[in-house]
Amino acid sequence: MNSFLPRTWADISLDHLEHNYRLIRNHVEPNVKMMAVVKADAYGHGVKFIAPALQSFGADWFAVSNIEEALQLRTLGITKDILILGYTPAFLAKELHANQITQTVFDTEYARQLASYAEKDDVVVNVHIKVDTGMSRIGFLHHADDDDTAKTEITRVCNFKNLNCSGIFTHFASSDLDGDPNGDFVRLQFHLFCDLIQKLEQEGIRFELRHCCNSAATLQNKDMHLDMVRPGIILYGMEPSSYFRGRYDLKPCMCLKSVVSMVKTLQPGDFVSYGRTYRAKQTITAATIPVGYADGYPRAMSNCGYVLIKKHKAPVIGRVCMDQMVVDVTGIPDVCEGMEVLLFGSDSNGCLPVETFSALYHSINYETVCIVGKRVPRVYYHKGQQIGSLNYVYNADGQCI
Ligand SMILES: *Cc1c(COP(=O)(O)O)cnc(C)c1O
Repeated sequence: MNSFLPRTWADISLDHLEHNYRLIRNHVEPNVKMMAVVKADAYGHGVKFIAPALQSFGADWFAVSNIEEALQLRTLGITKDILILGYTPAFLAKELHANQITQTVFDTEYARQLASYAEKDDVVVNVHIKVDTGMSRIGFLHHADDDDTAKTEITRVCNFKNLNCSGIFTHFASSDLDGDPNGDFVRLQFHLFCDLIQKLEQEGIRFELRHCCNSAATLQNKDMHLDMVRPGIILYGMEPSSYFRGRYDLKPCMCLKSVVSMVKTLQPGDFVSYGRTYRAKQTITAATIPVGYADGYPRAMSNCGYVLIKKHKAPVIGRVCMDQMVVDVTGIPDVCEGMEVLLFGSDSNGCLPVETFSALYHSINYETVCIVGKRVPRVYYHKGQQIGSLNYVYNADGQCI
């Protein structure tokens, strides 16, 4: 008996996760720590299964985007250090401390508030300093090496009694080489980061953990690993950008699948779906698939995407609706209700890489996996066995996550 309803679902391979983890682990020096980035529900793969698996493989740290995600990891039994990469309201200092969560500190005013709440609650909060070397998002601004402002401010923050500044990091804007084919900007950012660290050392301030490499830089810039790397997308077996196509033996973990719910013959002149944007020119066989944009199948795929059925391409015709869409299966033999359909990934129905899928609607693999809807069950495989499933809405035990 299936532990999930085979309507639309995502198969997730923990074997591939393990393979990717080991590939990265072998790529970086043994003394370099690995921080597994599991924000956004492990890039849509289901953090409930992904994080414990990564912890069992040996991940040293976990990174999330906010405190809810950090607390979720604690309830899942993650005992390793956790870094919140983004903003947490300062009044939560006590929660951060109580759950051994490390918070990113990105400006002096925020640091002051966090320190003052920590003092009030009589705790010390562990923090990593974020430096903005060119991303212009959050962080102490350090865009030129002749500017000492960041040095002065960070020195002040490191002297706040109720903060323990154990790490410092920055984030690259174009390490995937998409907007920076020669990697000049990555090197500039790295130079600025090292320059600042050196200036701080001259002030007697040293950090236990200095880190800057996301997936792309982890693979491409071995000289920049420092004390820790922060891979996300490659853990899940996806390429950081088209530059990486086929360069590393990454194995995608997710495969999105559905089934045929109805097959019908349409006559010339028949329209399909909302807005009547598709009109049959001849007699065609159309199959309805129970997947729509509420499942994360992008509406932008209307009249341009395709699915794979028994290794044949079946183009999406008409608009993708909230819960359903229609594909043209003319000429594909024996299509019938209940037949499996591959939306992206690779299985016995063929191969449609998530990168190719994403390009069809002018997006990227990162977005495609993150937007897979919460009503799509995730089904986990390890060593050839189905080892569990994740149902956000309802499961066979009548329990939800
Ligand atoms: C998301 C994120 C990462 C991981 O990025 P990938 O490209 O998925 O490897 C690393 N560092 C920070 C600060 C991030 O926000």
